[in-house]
This record gives sequence, structure tokens and C-alpha cells, in this order.
Amino acid sequence: MRKVAEEIIKAKFCIALTGAGISTESGIPDFRSKDGLWSRYDINEYGYLHSFLKNPAKVWKMLAEMAELFEKVKPNPAHYALAELEKLGLLKAVITQNIDGLHQEAGNKKVIEFHGSFNTLTCLNCGKKYSKEKIDLKNLPPRCSCNGILKPDIVFFGEPIPTKALNEALELANKSDLILVIGTSCAVYPAAALPIIVKRKGGKIIEINREESELSYLADYKLLGKAGEILPKVVEEVKKLMKNRLQKIQ
Ligand code: NAD
Repeated sequence: MRKVAEEIIKAKFCIALTGAGISTESGIPDFRSKDGLWSRYDINEYGYLHSFLKNPAKVWKMLAEMAELFEKVKPNPAHYALAELEKLGLLKAVITQNIDGLHQEAGNKKVIEFHGSFNTLTCLNCGKKYSKEKIDLKNLPPRCSCNGILKPDIVFFGEPIPTKALNEALELANKSDLILVIGTSCAVYPAAALPIIVKRKGGKIIEINREESELSYLADYKLLGKAGEILPKVVEEVKKLMKNRLQKIQ
């Protein structure tokens, strides 16, 4: 924990890559949980763009349930710890694969939503944008005033990463000398390539996961356990070290 805190203080450009695991303690299941949303909705049937286009009403049933869940949940100590690291000037950005908006709600200002966001929807017919609040989820699928079907601006499997998010994330990873990899199995590309870019350029990887991920073999430090318990402790250690250093200078 102390070594990790030292690395964070020492780093010139530290970023974080987060995944579904950072939000499980807020009550949003990840892909691997036994009794979550995704155990009831087969990802192969519901997670692909072609599944949405084939049967939007069916996929919207899952999306509406997700939207309802996102309304209820709150950030957990892991989200707040990252917001505090940003406030301390030690974290330059969070690149998240999540679509739940919890990093922003916790107070992080620089958040790249790599897999898009549930806050806005686009009409597949005319391209008109809607905000989530304006959508009536009683009649599925929701439709545009032109009668086209609305799709949330999230990235389904088979869809490209939004260009702006991809470019920003690549730029950040190329600048970074330290990446915190939190709550992600690192199984989904191109998000999982970001820690590899940092490592290839001579940077370090700190992994905080409940169990090892597909990129654990590359990690310089592994803190295995719950992010909501580990991250606040890391931030406490960081603050202790900063205070000690300040006292030495004075
Ligand atoms: P994943 O389900 O493949 O992996 C989650 C990882 O988090 C696992 O390695 C697991 O061990 C770890 N984990 C679970 N709970 C944890 C905790 N409390 N503390 C630390 N680690 C914990 O998720 P992924 O890698 O993000 O990739 C899957 C895709 O699923 C992403 O594209 C993401 O957009 C999407 N997704 C998003 C949400 C969300 O927005 N909250 C939820 C589910 C899935």
C-alpha cells in the first residue's frame, strides 16, 4: 500500500482505467456476478449492435432495467477516492468503460467515457439527440418524433469506440507514466490496450481488482480485493506521505 502511494506521488502523469468492478459495491453487477442483470440477459443475445437492430423492443427491456438501476445507485468509496486523488492533483484523468456516470457524480472532472454514456440517446433514423430524462420508458422501444427508434449512446459489441473518446484516451495513455487499473477484467479491447501502451512506453501499472485480470502478468503492483476498501486506504497513505514530506521541508 505504501509503495503504491509512493508511486502515485512520484508519477508525473497518473491516469486510471476503470471497469464494471468499481461499481459493484454501488449495487451494479459486473459481467461476472452470479445473480446480476447480465446473468438474466445473455450478453450474446443482448450485448451486440446486431441484436439491438434485430429486436430493439427486446433489448430495450434490459436497457430500461439498467436505466432504472442507474437512477437509484450512488458512488461508493472507490469512486470518491479517485475524485480525491484528482483534487490532490495526482490523477490527471479517469478513462472508464462504465456507462453509469458514477465517477462524475463522485466529483471527478476529467472523465473519458470510453464506451459511451446512457445520458443521451440518438434516433437511428434522423440522428436527433435526446437526453435520458426526456424519454418515456413505459412504451418500448422509445421513439423519436420522426418515429425512428432511439438507441442510447452506449457502445454495443460490434460498434466502434466514439472517436473523441478513443483519441483522448490514446493521447492520455501515451503521456502517462502510471496507470491505475481498477475493477476490470481487461478482456475487452481496445480499452485493455491502454495499460499495455503505458507499459510499453516505460510506465508502470498498478492493478486493483478482486481477482487477477488478463493483464495481471504485466502489473508492477497488484492489490487484490475490493476497490471500495483498498482505494480509500491508498489515498490515506498518499495524504500521510504528502504531510510528512511537507513537514520535512518546513
Ligand atoms: P468485467 O465484468 O469483465 O470485469 C469486472 C472485474 O472487476 C472483474 O475482474 C472482477 O474481479 C472485478 N471486480 C468486481 N467487483 C470488484 C470490486 N468490488 N473491487 C475490485 N474489483 C472488482 O467488466 P469490465 O472489464 O468493465 O468489461 C466489461 C464491459 O462491461 C465494459 O465494457 C463495461 O462497459 C460493461 N459494464 C459496465 C457496467 C457499468 O457501467 N457499471 C456494468 C457492467 C458491465
